[in-house]
Amino acid sequence: MSGIDDLPPLRDVIARHGIAAKKSLGQNFLLDLNLTAKIARQAGDLSAADVLEVGPGPGGLTRGLLAEGARKVLAIEKDPRCMEALAEIAAAYPGQLEVINGDALEVNPQAHLTPPIKVAANLPYNVGTELLVRWLTPKDWPPFWESLTLMFQREVAQRIVAEPGNKAYGRLAILSQWRADPAIVMELPPGAFSPPPKVNSAVVHLTALPAPRFPADPSVLNRVVAAGFNQRRKMLRAALKPLGPDMEDHLRTAGIAPTERAEQVSLEAFCALARSVAGAS
Ligand code: SAM
Repeated sequence: MSGIDDLPPLRDVIARHGIAAKKSLGQNFLLDLNLTAKIARQAGDLSAADVLEVGPGPGGLTRGLLAEGARKVLAIEKDPRCMEALAEIAAAYPGQLEVINGDALEVNPQAHLTPPIKVAANLPYNVGTELLVRWLTPKDWPPFWESLTLMFQREVAQRIVAEPGNKAYGRLAILSQWRADPAIVMELPPGAFSPPPKVNSAVVHLTALPAPRFPADPSVLNRVVAAGFNQRRKMLRAALKPLGPDMEDHLRTAGIAPTERAEQVSLEAFCALARSVAGAS
């Protein structure tokens, strides 16, 4: 017995259902259910929330979320080989686990969930980053989710919480800190996963702010920041040139010296720049 539920150990589940980890799906599984329960606890009180879990795999974190009392879990998993293992968990928690076999980048989860909604995921890093940016850049705010509890490579986690002047500071830091409060809440060594990845991992918890810290249009902010950091060693007047002929004027309007580099520019100043650019278009 696992200790946190009455289901068999994950190693047995993986062997029985033939879920050998596939590199192409970024599969590094968490097998220690005490650890998955600890990660689930980082999402806060789950008893009054629906949880969207992306990439449950054989269900280690899913079991953690349910054992921690989640009202309902919607789990979206691309790999069909995981469906039987997840169905066994659903049978142990009747009515509390819904599983969708699909690509999280294609499925709209909102039709299946009732607010308040929390998101928890241990995803391959490219999918995780793409979803994080999507979750942070909807047109309207607040979003459908209350918090995100996400596993990343430690280096990506550091990019999410980085401050100006730090070499990790960039688009992820700005988008994350603009509309949410991010914090690294756990660090995990490669040995926590099977198979072990090459790098360290970290769990980031982001709480959605009721309103963005500074007004800006999300798509304009995203565009300006992406261009600024795309050539991060260049002065902003050069890096932003592809966005139009009058970017130096917009920089001055926003109180940013055109000779500044993106790495030095605060979130507040980037929002002012996005407002100036949006006002002109
Ligand atoms: N959550 C499990 C755990 O912690 O042991 C599995 C983590 S593993 C790093 C990532 C999981 O995401 C795999 O099960 C993989 O099949 C799944 N996955 C990869 N791309 C996906 C996508 N686009 N949509 C949904 N699931 C995906």
